[in-house]
Amino acid sequence: MPIEKLALPDVYSAKQKIAPIARRTPLAASQALRATTGAEVRLKLENQQVTGSFKIRGAANKLFSLTKAERGRGVITVSSGNHGRALAYAAQELGVRATICVAKTVPENKVQAIQALGAELIVAGENADEAMEQADKLQAERGLTMVHPFDDLEIIAGQGSIAVEIIEDFADLDTVIVPLSGGGLLSGIAFAIKMVAPKVRVVGVSMERGPAMVESLKAGKIIDIVEEPTLADALAGGLNKDNRFTLPLVRDYMDEAVLVSEDEIAEAVYFCLEAHQMVVEGGGAVGVAALLSKKVEDLGERVAVVLSGANISVQTLRKIMAERENAA
Ligand SMILES: *Cc1c(COP(=O)(O)O)cnc(C)c1O
Repeated sequence: MPIEKLALPDVYSAKQKIAPIARRTPLAASQALRATTGAEVRLKLENQQVTGSFKIRGAANKLFSLTKAERGRGVITVSSGNHGRALAYAAQELGVRATICVAKTVPENKVQAIQALGAELIVAGENADEAMEQADKLQAERGLTMVHPFDDLEIIAGQGSIAVEIIEDFADLDTVIVPLSGGGLLSGIAFAIKMVAPKVRVVGVSMERGPAMVESLKAGKIIDIVEEPTLADALAGGLNKDNRFTLPLVRDYMDEAVLVSEDEIAEAVYFCLEAHQMVVEGGGAVGVAALLSKKVEDLGERVAVVLSGANISVQTLRKIMAERENAA
């Protein structure tokens, strides 16, 4: 039975179900961020997750929820890269056929990683909206199950398992900082946190270039944004027009939204490398960017930051390092 409304037990059961496929990631103290913010900051290392991002959690939970017949027919999705890779991996593990539609804007390193996992890759459209149209068409033609990257309760419950781990590892935390795009990650984390520890503040961070969720919340309806190139490519793309779950969940459970610039994202990626010897992609580093730029209004003393992914190309990483060294 598909879930109709999110409940806390769904998040706990997701955590159990995905355990054979996804890692329980570490929550690592950051001395460097303590020095810059004065708060005790811990990093949730989803950059060390299987497939290089948290998206394996939702994808695995969704596949486990399907009937045998649905698994037999196969699944399809549209992705800015990390969700497609995660679904391809989980599908391979469970012996399910996966079709992944991506727009032409998706970085080459992410496209190659999807192909290497044996999924059928379809490059369709100039942007995420066009790729979604193609995916919807194929889904109907081939009788596949759509695994939406964020607006799906099984996906949201899977991503929410991160909150359960944070709460287990970090007593009395004040604030959790979460990258925000379609809002599957933030919905799951914010919902679970508020059910267990309602005083914890949840801060969402998007990039200034095309923050679809933040604009839509302001307008009170789905806003079409123009997709621009950004270092936070994992956060690019709009909300689905028929959004059912993530817009209301983010609206109800997020306390504060912060936007970060391209320079601030580059600085954060560099910081993760320099201070922690960790490779974090732009979209994964926006929480650190929000801290370094001191944009979070009400930080508190004990802060968890989700580093949501690692999948940056070597070329982009080299560019960020070179620009930083030229500026110095
Ligand atoms: C998908 C993704 C996000 C955003 O997740 P949403 O559920 O779409 O808000 C953040 N960081 C990384 C690395 C991602 O791949």
